[in-house]
Amino acid sequence: MRGASAPAATGASTAGALHVREMLFNDIGCLNVNPMKSLHLIKPYFSENRYLIICGLICLIAVDMLQLIIPRIIKWAVDDLTLFNIDLTELSSYALYIVAIAVMIGLFRYGWRRCLIGTSRRAEEGLRNILFAHIQTLSASYFDRVKTGDLMAHATNDIQHVRMAIGMGMVALTDAIVLGTAAIGFMLYINKLLTLIVLIPMPLVALSARFFSKKMHRLYGEVQKTFADLTEAVRERFAGIRIIKAYNREKDESLKLEAISRDYIDKNLSLVRITGSFFPMMLLFSNLSLAILLYLGGRQTIVLTITPGDFVAFISYIGLLTWPMMAMGWVINLIQRGRASLDRINRILQTKPDIVDIPGARSITDLSSDITFENVSFAYKHRNPPVLNKINIRLDKGKTLGIVGPPGSGKTTLISLIPRLFDVSSGCISIDGIDISRMRVFDLRTLISFMPQEPFLFAGTIRENILFGNNKIKDSKLISATKKASLYDTIRLFHNGFETVIGEKGVILSGGQKQRLALARALLKQAPVLIFDDPISQVDVETGNDIINSIRSMAGEKTIIIISHRLSAVRFADQIIALDRGRIVESGTHAELMEYDKYYAKTFRLQEIEEELNAH
Ligand code: ADP
Repeated sequence: MRGASAPAATGASTAGALHVREMLFNDIGCLNVNPMKSLHLIKPYFSENRYLIICGLICLIAVDMLQLIIPRIIKWAVDDLTLFNIDLTELSSYALYIVAIAVMIGLFRYGWRRCLIGTSRRAEEGLRNILFAHIQTLSASYFDRVKTGDLMAHATNDIQHVRMAIGMGMVALTDAIVLGTAAIGFMLYINKLLTLIVLIPMPLVALSARFFSKKMHRLYGEVQKTFADLTEAVRERFAGIRIIKAYNREKDESLKLEAISRDYIDKNLSLVRITGSFFPMMLLFSNLSLAILLYLGGRQTIVLTITPGDFVAFISYIGLLTWPMMAMGWVINLIQRGRASLDRINRILQTKPDIVDIPGARSITDLSSDITFENVSFAYKHRNPPVLNKINIRLDKGKTLGIVGPPGSGKTTLISLIPRLFDVSSGCISIDGIDISRMRVFDLRTLISFMPQEPFLFAGTIRENILFGNNKIKDSKLISATKKASLYDTIRLFHNGFETVIGEKGVILSGGQKQRLALARALLKQAPVLIFDDPISQVDVETGNDIINSIRSMAGEKTIIIISHRLSAVRFADQIIALDRGRIVESGTHAELMEYDKYYAKTFRLQEIEEELNAH
């Protein structure tokens, strides 16, 4: 009799333990969560998927119920066996029942996973899309303030936590309530007093699950952070491998990485210590119940208060009860974390972009007259004094403005104000007499083709990077733009031409090639206003001349603003301004400024001598 009960009990508690592990490792696979005043963010996913959720909950409850039937079948089999009241056919039918139930459990478990976890995945996807779309609307100044790493953490960890709170939260809560109550109910049905006594250690399971899951969560967070540090450190060192080699820094960099790696291992070991003591602790508590049961239940079996079958079933119920007890402690943490993360996400979503369309913003489709700066001053929010001071410029349609000046004089800042990457602090920039802050931001930016100083290329092919979404553009135009940017011959040298994959940040391209690619991208955008931030800073004199000639060929047809550290590049401009510490200190044509004989003229002559010397 005893020999028969042991494997049955082990089978049930193994299934219970597996269930527990499955749940816990899913939790560890994610992190924080937090939704209360931010609940409106996830409500739509609950209502959209209500039928799926109902279906999932039905499947989950069915699994719980079916699990509870197995001990009953074992009870009947054991009782029949102990009374020698069974033949092989009956025995095999009991076995078949168990197989059938196991199959049903499998199917229903698949069902709840698809429905409930599927819903949480949909919510995750929706939240991520909303968050990404919103972050893209935020202004350049926001990205100056917030670290990219933090934004990445919101887009990954926080969203994962919300997903876990939704998916596993629903599961753990239902299991804690349904499986817990039903298992206790079945036990009470067998013997009330015995149930109450063996349940004594169970609250310890719930309490320690809460305690340990909190600790595990914190440590897992630290492990994730150190892992992110490690990945970033490795990525940075591989990206900068050339400079490391050139400066013979291999050994020092290896030592630095070893330190980061050690930190990562230490954090992991702390986590292992906690998870390593958690499972044995849980087993200890449930085995405590088992020991009480073995002694008291055994006695009751001997005096025939309960049957041997009941005794074995009781053991199985204890095994099944461990998970709901742990779920009770775990689900609280899960939901708390979910709420915290949802609040953090909500906070970002509540951040209003500084630069938005005002009500009734004007629509504009072309430049017909001029771009004007009137007494424009600008300070980056946290900076004092202003970077630009009382700037006055008038640039007529089809004319070219050259901007020169020492590094840090405010050239890039000045051109960033035109597409409203930043808004002026005082004064006004207008296009065709309309203040740009009263125009639709989309229209304004459509009007302008902007080539920044640091060309940014995305992972993808050369074609994708030049077209940058302009997929309808014909090949002839693409070729013409690359020719104008002096890039066509280079592309032809690549085995796959325009289809060459340029990798992360355009790593297979030289600095000058990247710059020319960014120029081709800017030229391809059919905009009436072209703004170039030092387009020849990284190319040789000859290529630089070709590029400037291409830009020059568009003079008259387009309105052009061009910053250049090489003054010969702006020589052709209709108007040139020289900035110094945020003020316009010189203004005029090339001839006028040469005559004025100050910064422009002196730098121009110096650069001319330099170029001549380099040529020899
Ligand atoms: P230039 O293009 O002439 O080299 P910039 O316009 O880039 O000059 O910079 C002008 C000044 O503004 C510099 O002192 C620079 O440090 C500062 N600056 C540039 N960008 C930012 C920013 N995002 N936040 C704060 N200060 C900035």
